[in-house]
Amino acid sequence: MDRGRPLARRFFMTLRTDRLATLYFFHPWKRLAGTRPGVPILMYHSIFDGRGDSRHPYFQTWTSPLRFAEHMAWLHGEDYRTISLAALARRKESDFAGHGKEVVLTFDDGFQDFYTEAVPVLMKYGFSATMGLPTAFIGHRRRQFWGRDCLIWEEVRELRGLGIDFASHTVNHRQLCGMTREEVCRELVDSKQTIETELGMRVDGFAYPYAFPEANRWFVDWFSEALAASGYCAGVCTAIGVAHPNSNRLAMPRIPVNDWDDTVFLQAKLEGAYDWLHPLQYLAKHVRSWRSIGRGESLSHHA
Ligand SMILES: [Zn+2]
Repeated sequence: MDRGRPLARRFFMTLRTDRLATLYFFHPWKRLAGTRPGVPILMYHSIFDGRGDSRHPYFQTWTSPLRFAEHMAWLHGEDYRTISLAALARRKESDFAGHGKEVVLTFDDGFQDFYTEAVPVLMKYGFSATMGLPTAFIGHRRRQFWGRDCLIWEEVRELRGLGIDFASHTVNHRQLCGMTREEVCRELVDSKQTIETELGMRVDGFAYPYAFPEANRWFVDWFSEALAASGYCAGVCTAIGVAHPNSNRLAMPRIPVNDWDDTVFLQAKLEGAYDWLHPLQYLAKHVRSWRSIGRGESLSHHA
């Protein structure tokens, strides 16, 4: 009926506060003040055209093949080099940044469109990437996650041959913070073992599913120990920001990217001008954490 509504909605969604503040305040300010040494880790999910998704752009997780190609062409044109998640995590504090323009490309959820849409573009520019696999959804026959086709092991092996790294994204992709210690450890150990058996190689990386409960100090400390005990040395989560020399190597922050990121916004994010959102993200988690404790749902009860 109202033909103007989708356009008006798109217009107001484009006028995002986070985008405006990043581009017109934090980015110019960062350029004046100078940036902290760090390495951006980008977080992609599926590479497909998801137009019609009515969620706010901040929460969308799809990037169209066209936009993705634009991002990679821009990174290549700006002389960015990709490094693997594990290689970054192994660096000492003194040697963490300062190697020129570097970026880590990560993909979560093991969707097949990584194979069909993202990898040909990555190969064109000689880029590498790390894909987090939720192993219950990766089979020898095609399975689906969030209603979308996932990779099969044959494809995973082929991609490994092309230099793509694989990390664990748990077995079942559940919110780990609400599970028992034993259940969490099983998710960490079983997913790692499955990928190692299928690929015949060591898996070092882990990508935390859903919002990382970073305001729950107890959980973060326990979880980091559990990751290390399970044999992981590189972890990423959904905390927003560029990874810095003193970042916890088992829960390094990432920069979410999706179809709404034109190259102007992407550049600002890569240069640390989106990191201002992290304190707000942290505060929101802290409030949620206290509310759940108030309701008698202490997050550490499950441990
Ligand atoms: Zn995920």
